[in-house]
Amino acid sequence: MPSVVISGAGAAGLAAAWWLARAGWRVTVVERASDLRTGGYMMSLSGPGHAAAARMGLVSKLEPLAYTVEENVYRDRRGREVLRLRFHDFIEGLDYLVMRRTDLIAALRADLPEGVDIRLGTMIADVEDSPDGASVRFSDGATCKADLVLLADGMRSALRNRLFAPDSDCLKPLGYRFAVYELKDRLGLGADFVSYAEPGHIAEYYTLAEGRVAALHVWHSHETGPVPAADRWELLSQVCARSHPTVHAQLIAAREEGAVPLVDDLALVDLPRWSTGRVLLLGDAAHCLTLISGQGAGMALTSAAILADALGRSAIPEALVEHEARLRPSIIRLQDRSRKMAGMFVPHSPVAFELRNLFMRHVPRKWIGRYFINAVNAEILAAKGADG
Ligand SMILES: Cc1cc2nc3c(=O)[nH]c(=O)nc-3n(C[C@H](O)[C@H](O)[C@H](O)COP(=O)(O)OP(=O)(O)OC[C@H]3O[C@@H](n4cnc5c(N)ncnc54)[C@H](O)[C@@H]3O)c2cc1C
Repeated sequence: MPSVVISGAGAAGLAAAWWLARAGWRVTVVERASDLRTGGYMMSLSGPGHAAAARMGLVSKLEPLAYTVEENVYRDRRGREVLRLRFHDFIEGLDYLVMRRTDLIAALRADLPEGVDIRLGTMIADVEDSPDGASVRFSDGATCKADLVLLADGMRSALRNRLFAPDSDCLKPLGYRFAVYELKDRLGLGADFVSYAEPGHIAEYYTLAEGRVAALHVWHSHETGPVPAADRWELLSQVCARSHPTVHAQLIAAREEGAVPLVDDLALVDLPRWSTGRVLLLGDAAHCLTLISGQGAGMALTSAAILADALGRSAIPEALVEHEARLRPSIIRLQDRSRKMAGMFVPHSPVAFELRNLFMRHVPRKWIGRYFINAVNAEILAAKGADG
């Protein structure tokens, strides 16, 4: 029985575990966190990601957990409405699910075949590759041999630094940072996203189940790199110094509730190769697309399906080459779109901010909708082609 060790129990790692366990592999997943409930931000699955979830029979399990979104209402720092976008205009005719990342991860985990060994609070300490198998040493001192090692441990994959390239070479910041956290709902937004937008910064809120609200900030930043947990609220206070009072109130309330925001750069991962020997990078670790693309988790699911398909037909070295050849064209397109769209999502200068709002107010909704739907459909077609 072939064996795989997977580092990271995010969408990429769990989807790979799902496919490979079903194909008869012995699967071990190690996850640094002590539980899988971190990173509960809102995200959507559309296009190839939705199709991949459908192939896994996951859609009917995710639907009861999904949220409806009516409108995204943009207000300026004085609270005046500057823009109102109807979600329906963007997704008409598309298969689409909006959910919390935590719910996607829980659904993937619940659906894993019996026998998948998940070790929480554990990491890979070292991998020695050789033609007859990889020798893996874990952080708890245990060791094992594996035919394949998947590094699905996110944008800041630690082993990638050693086995592929240092972060300084492969992380490409887009000039923005983001923060996400949850807090008690005091806004009562119904099924609308509300965004407080100003030049260089946007704060978005959406009401969750159980009286909670999901908050997202994206802001222009020349600084990059991880922000220590103890400094994150202070950084956000500075970012929001001139924002609407509602934004301040949410920050203060979340801090008092003891939430710890997730803060990171909007950065692409750009590598010339995703595999070396028996080690393959998967998901954000290989090709982070950033939240701007709206396809990172979707492409993680797609990538796992393509990998399992390639491994079902070819020996490991050929399968890794085939997986990359089939996936890379979509990744190049999506990363290119992230680079172009970042400035549109959060315009940096006051002039760019006004121009973006003017454009979005006056461009026919049908055009925006058609652009978005065509882009998603193109990725579905490309993924179908890649599915062989
Ligand atoms: C705010 C936000 C909104 C987004 N919106 C969307 C969206 O609408 N649609 C979409 O498709 N995508 C979206 N994305 C992107 C999407 O969330 C990611 O692309 C996706 O989660 C990547 O999955 P992954 O499994 O590759 O990595 P991750 O989700 O980062 O998971 C990596 C896992 O590895 C673990 N780990 C880290 N280091 C180690 C280690 N050394 N050893 C063991 N385990 C480790 C982590 O704890 C984590 O569980 C969004 C992202 C953000 C931040």
